[in-house]
Amino acid sequence: MSEAVAGAVAERFTQLYGAGPEGVWAAPGRVNLIGEHTDYNDGFVMPFALPHTAVAAVSRRDDGVLRLHSADVDDGAGGVAELRVADLAPGTDRGWTAYPAGVVWALREAGHEVTGADIHLASTVPAGAGLSSSAALEIVVALALNDLYGLGLRGWQLARLCQRAENVYVGAPVGIMDQTAAACCEAGHALFLDTRDLSQRQIPFDLAAEGMRLLVVDTRVKHAHSEGEYGKRRAGCEKGAALLGVDALRDVPYAGLDEALERLGDDEEVRRLVRHVVTEDERVERVVSLLEAGDTAAIGPVLTEGHVSLRDDFRISCRELDLVVDTALAAGALGARMTGGGFGGSAIVLARTADVDTLTKAVQEAFAQAGLTAPRVFEAVPSAGARRLA
Ligand code: ADP
Ligand code: MG
Repeated sequence: MSEAVAGAVAERFTQLYGAGPEGVWAAPGRVNLIGEHTDYNDGFVMPFALPHTAVAAVSRRDDGVLRLHSADVDDGAGGVAELRVADLAPGTDRGWTAYPAGVVWALREAGHEVTGADIHLASTVPAGAGLSSSAALEIVVALALNDLYGLGLRGWQLARLCQRAENVYVGAPVGIMDQTAAACCEAGHALFLDTRDLSQRQIPFDLAAEGMRLLVVDTRVKHAHSEGEYGKRRAGCEKGAALLGVDALRDVPYAGLDEALERLGDDEEVRRLVRHVVTEDERVERVVSLLEAGDTAAIGPVLTEGHVSLRDDFRISCRELDLVVDTALAAGALGARMTGGGFGGSAIVLARTADVDTLTKAVQEAFAQAGLTAPRVFEAVPSAGARRLA
């Protein structure tokens, strides 16, 4: 299948630029299994890669020109964006080209000699659904340039550079999870990542072999205030860490949570944020232990606990996400939770294979009855990270 995709993307590249590409690469979107809003608290996350990928056909240039095209963007002109690598500067681009251009900028900033490129992109990662289409785009470009220019950078280093591109060049204050997932995930595994020191471990997560499936339910809503709310949560977590005298909430041990909450006194808002982050880190560790012990079904209730914590303590769920979780659990799911930033986006549902159809129907009917936009439901098979296709 990937050969056909690579061939089609290479063919379009040839139409656009007049000669075939030097190579074709792919990088996936991701779902976070557990570990939500822990990344900016130096904590643990556990994403796995989706079968959906951003694919890039790329050739080097030595004349300082960067040409960019996406099959998925209809800008009216339908054309190729042409930039000069020497002119790339943060804040100069508010469009989609900021993602790939930001990667070139970050590589050059770090001292890597990238003298231009022709790039054609095509992605099956739905944009803005909380599945990290942006990191897929960045990592596929970074990996292609790493290979073509012989930079010798490792996956985690590409992730760091892409995070910098998104933070500084695009101007989005994202953590390190999405880029690391796109770069480093392996098929049949989830990635246990310590966002403090970037140490990582591949955790076996082969659901089909155990008669289970993980569904993603994209609610297709994004409530408008979500970015402001993200900033507030981040600031609240920082305040909590400062009040407790630690570098980050990661440093509050689960065993010492009650004591920490007591020390926070009557600042109910901060207490709730701290409780979520500290218990969420513990849930990630519990999921790792369960999966390593081969007890996959037992992670279901831990996922659901995570949802309750995000809903009641972190307060970033919404009507649509709660409806997915409640309906799925009532229809026999092993566990379910919202995933991603909150206030819309996607939820995940762990189910026995035999229950998938009933469950999917139940969720769709619940949305129809509530008069909500029909959600997109698909199976998330833990898939490979970034790689060269051709
Ligand atoms: P997410 O990463 O959760 O999908 P983001 O807002 O971080 O959402 O990134 C979405 C943005 O990434 C889009 O608005 C667009 O600018 C860019 N993007 C994603 N996929 C593509 C694509 N195939 N072609 C061009 N731009 C894309
Ligand atoms: Mg993103």
